[in-house]
Amino acid sequence: MERFSTRRFTAWLCSFLFVVSVNGFANEALIQLEKSAEALSPAEGIELLDQFDLDNSEFDAESQAKFYFLYGQLYEKTRQLDLSIASYGKGIAFVKDLPVTDVLVDSYLERSFAHYLQTNDPSVYCIDRKQALIYARQNDNSQLLTKALTQNAFCYTEPATVQIGIDLLEEAMTIVDKSDKINTHRKAMIYNATGNLYRQVGLHQRGYENFEKAYLAWQIIDDKEDMFNMQHNMLSEALKLGDWSKAQQSIQVQFALAKMTKGYKDLLFFANLNAGRVALRMNEFSEAITHLEKAVSLHYTTKERYFKTSNYLFLALAYLRNGDADKATEMARKFTQDESFSKNQQSMILKGKAIVALGDNRPVDAMNMLLKVIDSEREVNQNIINKKVINSALEHNAKLAVFENQLLANKLAINELNWEAAEDKEHINELKLSLFLVLVLVLFAMVMVLLYSQRSLRARAQTDFLTGLYNRGYTFTRGQYLVEKANRKQQSVAVIIFDIDNFKLINDTHGHHIGDLALQALSKRAQALLKKQDLIGRIGGEEFLIVLPNVNLKQALVISERLRAGIAEQSFSFDDINLEFTISLGVADNLSEGKSLNDLAKYADEALYRAKFAGKNKVYIAAECA
Ligand code: GH3
Ligand code: MG
Ligand code: MG
Repeated sequence: MERFSTRRFTAWLCSFLFVVSVNGFANEALIQLEKSAEALSPAEGIELLDQFDLDNSEFDAESQAKFYFLYGQLYEKTRQLDLSIASYGKGIAFVKDLPVTDVLVDSYLERSFAHYLQTNDPSVYCIDRKQALIYARQNDNSQLLTKALTQNAFCYTEPATVQIGIDLLEEAMTIVDKSDKINTHRKAMIYNATGNLYRQVGLHQRGYENFEKAYLAWQIIDDKEDMFNMQHNMLSEALKLGDWSKAQQSIQVQFALAKMTKGYKDLLFFANLNAGRVALRMNEFSEAITHLEKAVSLHYTTKERYFKTSNYLFLALAYLRNGDADKATEMARKFTQDESFSKNQQSMILKGKAIVALGDNRPVDAMNMLLKVIDSEREVNQNIINKKVINSALEHNAKLAVFENQLLANKLAINELNWEAAEDKEHINELKLSLFLVLVLVLFAMVMVLLYSQRSLRARAQTDFLTGLYNRGYTFTRGQYLVEKANRKQQSVAVIIFDIDNFKLINDTHGHHIGDLALQALSKRAQALLKKQDLIGRIGGEEFLIVLPNVNLKQALVISERLRAGIAEQSFSFDDINLEFTISLGVADNLSEGKSLNDLAKYADEALYRAKFAGKNKVYIAAECA
C-alpha cells in the first residue's frame, strides 16, 4: 500500500515537474526535486530521479550538474559507490569549462568522499580533493572553501607533510571565525581534523586538546553522537599519554552520554569497551574483564566490526593477565579469526597471535611474536621522533611565543642532540639506536611538558619575585629592543635609573621586612606614575631602570621630576610605621648620548651618581656630567 502510494506520488510529481520545466521554470523544478527526494528514502529518491525526463527539461548546464549531484548523493547513501562516482563525474562534465560554481566544487568534494568510502586510499581520493580546493579558492563561497580545506587536511597525515595539513586547518579556522554565521559544526570538524593530524604523528597532547575543543563545540549544539565520538578519541589520547585521571573522567562522560542517548544504541557498548581498555592499562584486570564482557554482550547493538574484533583481544589480554590462560586463548582465537582486521594494527595482531601460540603450547612462537611487538612499537616510535615532526610542532608553537631566555637553553639542548645522526639511523647499530630512542623520547616528553608550561615559565623567568616588576635580565633584553627600535625609526628614547636614598638606614632602623614592603610600595607607585608603553624593571637591590619610548630628554626630565616628587612628597605607611624616603635619579637619551641601552644606562648611572653626590633627592641628566 505504502509502496503504491509512493509510486503514484513520484509519477505525478515527474509529470508536474516536466510541465513546469518545459515552461521555463527549471530552477523551481530542481528545487522541488531536491525537496521531494529529501522527503523520501534514498532508494525512492533514486526512483524519482530515474523518472524525470532530463533531456527535455530545458535545464541549463548548472542545473544539470545539480541534478547529477543529487543522484550522486543518493547513490552514496545507498552505498552504490560506483554509480555515485559516475554521477558526480557526469555533473562535473557539464560545468567544468564554465566559470567556477558551487556545484563544481562540491561535486569534486563529494566524489572524493565516495572514493574514500570505496578505497580508504589517500592516493585515490585526494586527487579530487586537491582539485576541489583549487576551484574553491577561485569561488566566492567561504563555507565551501572551509569544507575543501578541512577535507584536504586529511591528505597530509604523514610526519613529513603534517605541517601542510595544519596550515590548511588554520586557514579554515580563520575563515570560519571571520564569517558572520556562527558555524559551530564546521569549527568542531576542524578541531577534530586537527586532532586527527596530531594523533597520526604521535603528538598526543595536542591531539587530546583538539578533540576536547571539538567536544566542547559539539556540546554547544548538543550533538550527542559527535560528543561521544570526541570523548572516544580523547580517551585514546589520554591512554597514549598515560593520563589516567583524564581517561577516567572521559569514561564517566561516556557512560553519562550513553545513558542520555538511548537512540544511539551502541554508545553503551563503546563506553564499556573503553572502560575495559582503561582498566586494562591501569592493571585492574578483574574490573577490565567485567567491562569487556559486558561490551561483548552488547555486540549486537553495533556494526563497527573493527571495535568488536578489538574487544576480543582486550578481553584476551585481561584474562591472560588475570591468570586465566584458557579463556585468554579462546578470546584471542576469536580475535585472530577476523581476516579483515586492519592490517596496520600490527602490534595488536601480533599480541593476539602470541596468545594463541601460547595456548597451542608453542612458547617459542609466542615469545618471538612478543619480540616482534616490541620491534613494531619501536618502529612507530621512530616515526614519531622523526626530526621533522618535532620541528613542525615547535614551529607551530613558535607562533604562540618567541623562545626567550630560559627556553633558549632548552632549544640548545635539542640542537646538541645532533639530529644529523638521527637521519643517518640505518648506520647506527642496534644498541646505539635504542639508547638514542630512549634519550629522544625522554627529551620529546620534556619538550612537550616545557611547551605546555612555557607561558608560566617565561613569566616567572622575567619577573622580579619581590616587586612583581621585570627583573634585571628581562629589563635589559626588552629595553635593548626598545632602544634599537627607536634608533631604527629615528625616534627618541630616554632612560632613567633611580636608586633609593639611604635605604640601608631604613633596613637598619625598621628591619628588613619593612625594607621589603618599602620596595614593593615604591614599585607600585612608580608604575602608577608611568604610562603603559614605558618599561620599568628592578635591576639591583634598590635600583630601578626605566625605558621611555618616544620621549626626549626634556620630557624625560619632567617625568623624572614627577617620580622624584611622587615618592618624596607622600609618605608610605606599613602596619603602624610611617615611612618617608626619597630617590635620586639619572637621565639620558639617545639623541644626546650613546645608541645602545648599555651606553644609555652607563650615562644615566653616572648622572645618578652625581645626583647622590650633590645631596640626593635630585634629578640629574647625563649631559650635565660632562
Ligand atoms: P645611597 O643613598 O647611597 O644609595 O645609600 P643606600 O643606603 O641606599 O645604599 P647602599 O648601597 O649602602 O645600601 C643598599 C641597601 O639595600 C643594602 C641592602 O641590604 C639593601 N637591600 C638590597 N636588596 C634588598 C631587598 O631586597 N630587601 C631589603 N629590605 N633590602 C635590600
Ligand atoms: Mg641607595
Ligand atoms: Mg644602590
